[in-house]
Amino acid sequence: MSSPLLKMQNVTHVYVTVSEAIKAIENINLSIAAGEFVSLVGPSGCGKTTVLSCLAGILQPTAGHVLLGDKPIKGPCRQVGYMLQADYLFAWRTILDNVLIGLEVMGQLRHETKKHAQFLLNELGLGDYKHVYPSQLSGGMRQRAALVRTLVTNPDILLLDEPFSALDYQTKLKLENLVFETLKKHGKSAVLVTHDIGEAIAMSDRIIVMDKHPGRIKRELIIPDHIRQARPFDAREAEGFYDLFRQIWKELDDDED
Ligand code: ADP
Ligand code: MG
Repeated sequence: MSSPLLKMQNVTHVYVTVSEAIKAIENINLSIAAGEFVSLVGPSGCGKTTVLSCLAGILQPTAGHVLLGDKPIKGPCRQVGYMLQADYLFAWRTILDNVLIGLEVMGQLRHETKKHAQFLLNELGLGDYKHVYPSQLSGGMRQRAALVRTLVTNPDILLLDEPFSALDYQTKLKLENLVFETLKKHGKSAVLVTHDIGEAIAMSDRIIVMDKHPGRIKRELIIPDHIRQARPFDAREAEGFYDLFRQIWKELDDDED
């Protein structure tokens, strides 16, 4: 495997509020290789979003290090794209103008980058919807627009926090395929947080199961090659899929007190 692109070393994070200190994650060690797709699954409140926020540089962990290549991450940077669960498109901006926000914020809004944004919109089937407002689109289309906004700044690694959880099942399966193929085609790495065990198996090279109170890594599963290589839709039919499903289900079930 190539050297890790993004890495967490002994990361612990404690949220301090007026009334208490909550240890959200403890001693997390994690590395993501170039081109690798890793999913994080675990019960609600086990610290998945906290892990992503630390990887994105939005949150400085209480202890430990987050490294991009061999450099510490001190804040948000171009190489790491963060796509939040809610699509957070601005209602008063058109789809194109929403997609260009990332470029504006990064100071990269130029003729070529704008053309690239149009190219990605076309590629994800939104070419005809550039000039409409988010409220005129379906949930799946808004999620695609949010994905284009994340991709357009050309990050090496995408952090996806339950991007498909608000969608109906069919739209979700279609978007899984689309995201999977888009990331593979552009050679991106990804960390996906999901509640859906099937989705994690179908999309990933590796799955990390987390425990809660405090959030720790409980188990790591490597997905066999034939399942990895299949498109997510077909991966669900692949041999061994349900064995993996049951293993992860059991890990999560053991967690319920
Ligand atoms: P997950 O994404 O797995 O549901 P989170 O990372 O959101 O978990 O939360 C992990 C723990 O940290 C939970 O106990 C949650 O209540 C707590 N937490 C998350 N964000 C904050 C915050 N901003 N302030 C205080 N506690 C927080
Ligand atoms: Mg979360």
